[in-house]
Amino acid sequence: MNDLSYILNELGEDREQYFRAISPPIMQTSNFAFKKVADLRKVFEDEFSTYLYSRGLNPTVDILRQKLAALDEAEDCLVFNSGASAIFASVFSNVQSGDHIVSVRAPYTWAQRMFDNILPRFGISTTYIDGTRIENFEQAIRPNTKIIYLESPNSWDFQLQDLQAVASLAKSKNIITICDNSYCTPLFQKPVAMGIDMVLQSATKYIGGHSDVVAGVLTGTRQMMKKIFDNELLNMGNGITPFNAWLLIRGLRTLPVRLERISQSTRKVVDYLKNHPQVEEVIFPFDPSFPQYKMAKKQMSGACGLFTVVMKAEKMDQIVTFCESLRHILMAVSWGGHESLAIPRCASILPENFDAGNRAHKMIRFYVGLEDPDYLIADYEQAFAKSR
Ligand SMILES: *Cc1c(COP(=O)(O)O)cnc(C)c1O
Repeated sequence: MNDLSYILNELGEDREQYFRAISPPIMQTSNFAFKKVADLRKVFEDEFSTYLYSRGLNPTVDILRQKLAALDEAEDCLVFNSGASAIFASVFSNVQSGDHIVSVRAPYTWAQRMFDNILPRFGISTTYIDGTRIENFEQAIRPNTKIIYLESPNSWDFQLQDLQAVASLAKSKNIITICDNSYCTPLFQKPVAMGIDMVLQSATKYIGGHSDVVAGVLTGTRQMMKKIFDNELLNMGNGITPFNAWLLIRGLRTLPVRLERISQSTRKVVDYLKNHPQVEEVIFPFDPSFPQYKMAKKQMSGACGLFTVVMKAEKMDQIVTFCESLRHILMAVSWGGHESLAIPRCASILPENFDAGNRAHKMIRFYVGLEDPDYLIADYEQAFAKSR
């Protein structure tokens, strides 16, 4: 049974094993004891089969793994101590010296740094493409291409890829597809069902949902997850801790209600900002003005709280004043928690290089959390008044 309510409230939870407690125990142990040498031998041969040592499998983590795999409609799942770790393990496990990767342009910062700074040391090169057109994938693929790396939508400009088309192209050429699904979560997009081989997300965002855990999820076939577990996960020791797994199980219970609330509030906030005289443009996949609106509606069943605003500004000071005047909306990286956020692009630009003619320089990325949308709109309003 793959009903959402069943997955979030029951799947993987055998309450008879722990005094019928509603909330599962945090199995805070490093190792597990054995009575028979033969049993030890069995687990030494295959550590993915049972509990030996918590750098590998752990019962609390296993409850979470089952739920996350089911949500993605994938065979299995690994949970890492960060989204960046999940990215690294999924790519690193599938390349060797001389290989080539095709990635969408402007993927998540630390995916890009891995492609640019780490993999070239091992003779692995990456070609970045505009992923909005399937022809660009066809043209970039070489005989040694092993991975197509996707992020749909990506953050800042929210460009999408046609996941079904890319998956079928990759399959015909024996190339592994990996998709970062952090924006949508498995509730709003199911890349595995569209033929993508591996799906990852930063659980720091919506799965955790309370800005108190850093974690990453990777789902795919049992065979692929075992290969990554046996090599990258056990060797790098980058699995999630039992306590953080427990926090993510708790986060999952309320994921659908949080996303529903955030989706509704975001719609209201986006409509307010779109019509504001100090705003040039709002970039949000579920807004009819979005260039790939049709594609977004086709492959995503919802859009969350992240969007970008291009401000009308002559000087950088106007954007700085706006951001520094916000009283309730916090200036911080990340997103997916209870608190609304803002992050200006100009924080990554030296003031002397600011160019008011460059649309990207005037971007602020906003995240709408769980607050009342009118409370947020009032905050935007007073900050706009100060930055006029
Ligand atoms: C945050 C984020 C990550 C990285 O996740 P961490 O948990 O911060 O390591 C990866 N991809 C996207 C799209 C993100 O927003």
